[in-house]
Amino acid sequence: MKYDYLIVGAGLSGSVLAERIASQLNKKVLVIDKKDHIAGHCYDYAHESGIMIHKFGPHIFHTNIKKVWDYLSKFTKWHLYFHRVLAVVEGKKVPVPFNLNSIYLLFPKKYAEKLEDLLIKNFGYGIKIPILKLKNNSNPEINFLADYIYKNVFLGYTLKQWDLKPEELDFTVTSRVPVYISRDDRYFQDTYQGIPLKGYAELVKNILNHKNITILLNTHYSKLPTDINYKKIIFTGPIDEFFDYKHGELPYRSLRFEYDEIRKSYFQEVAQVNYPNNYDFTRITEFKHFLDTESDLTVIAKEFSEEYKIGLNDPYYPIPRKENDEIYLKYKQEAEKQKNKVIFVGRLADYKYYNMDQTVAVALTVFEKNIGKK
Ligand code: UDP
Repeated sequence: MKYDYLIVGAGLSGSVLAERIASQLNKKVLVIDKKDHIAGHCYDYAHESGIMIHKFGPHIFHTNIKKVWDYLSKFTKWHLYFHRVLAVVEGKKVPVPFNLNSIYLLFPKKYAEKLEDLLIKNFGYGIKIPILKLKNNSNPEINFLADYIYKNVFLGYTLKQWDLKPEELDFTVTSRVPVYISRDDRYFQDTYQGIPLKGYAELVKNILNHKNITILLNTHYSKLPTDINYKKIIFTGPIDEFFDYKHGELPYRSLRFEYDEIRKSYFQEVAQVNYPNNYDFTRITEFKHFLDTESDLTVIAKEFSEEYKIGLNDPYYPIPRKENDEIYLKYKQEAEKQKNKVIFVGRLADYKYYNMDQTVAVALTVFEKNIGKK
C-alpha cells in the first residue's frame, strides 16, 4: 500500500495533522499506534455505569485560543464544565490554585483578613503569582504565607509527582498553578472550557474519520509490514527513542492508577482532590463530575507518579529542567537534519509539557507552516 504520510501516534497531534493533510491536501495518510486504541493519553471509555473514565488521568479541555476551540468544535459538542480542584491541607479541603478563599479556610478570620489586605495592597486583586516568586517577597508576613503555601501545597505534591523539589524544575512547572489573589475557585480561567460531550476518544475518532485516513493499531513503527510505502513521516513518539537514544535517554515521568468502584452516588465534592501532604498518591479523580453523569455508583482513581522505564511503562510527562532540555536540543539538531523526511511534533517528540490546546495549536501551525504550503 502507498501513502503520502506515515503518522506515528494516534494521539491529538497525530490525529489533527492526519485530518489536515487528508482534508486540505487530499493526500493519503496512514496513522499507526502501538496501543490498541486511538486518542493517545486523552483516551477515555464508558464504564458499565455510563461514567466516562479518563484512562490516563483527568483531562480538562481549556483554551484562550479561539481558533483551536473552533477547530475541535467541528468534531465534538461540548459539555460546558469548569474544573475545580481541592487540596487537602491540614485535613481541610481548600481550593487550588491557592486563593483568598483558601486563606479564609485555613487561618483565623482576623489573620486571614490581614493577609488578604496585604496581598491586595502589594499585588492587586485578580493577580496570579507563581509560588517560587511569592517566596522571594521581602515582606515578612507575605513571606510566611508563601512558605506555608510552598510547604503545604507544592513541596509534597511536587516531590511525589516529579521526585524533585519545585526549584529543581523549570519555573514554568509550578507556575501552571499560581497563587491567585481572587475568590475565583476555578482551576482555569480560560475563555473556553469543557469536556467533549461523548468523550475524547469519540472526538479523536471524528477527527480521524476521513476517506484518506487509514488507521493501524497495535503497530509499532519499527515493525511496519514491509509492503507499506510512504513519502514522509510525522513522528509523535519520544524523540530519543526515534534516534535510538544516541544522545542518551530523555527522562519522562509515568503514571499508575488504582481504580475503585464505590456504591454511593458521590465520593468527593469535585472531580479532583489533591493530596500534597498525605499518602503516596498525588490526587484522586472522581470521573462522574466531568460530564455530570447520573448513576448510583461512582468510580474513582488514585494517581501515583513513577519513573518512566523503557518497555515497562509509558512516558506521560517530559521533565522540564535545564539538563534535560540540553539533551533534547541535541535530538532537535538531529531532527533538523531529517526535516525533509521526518516531522517531529507533540508532547513527547517536542519534549514540551503541552496542554491539549497547545498540542492542537502546535499541530495546526506545523501544518500551516511546514506542510500545507509546500
Ligand atoms: N502542583 C502542586 N500542588 C498542587 C497542584 C500542582 O505542587 O496541588 C504542582 C506540581 O509540581 C504539579 C504542577 O504544579 O506537577 C503542575 O500541576 P498541574 O495540575 O498542571 O499538573 P497536570 O494536571 O498536568 O498533571
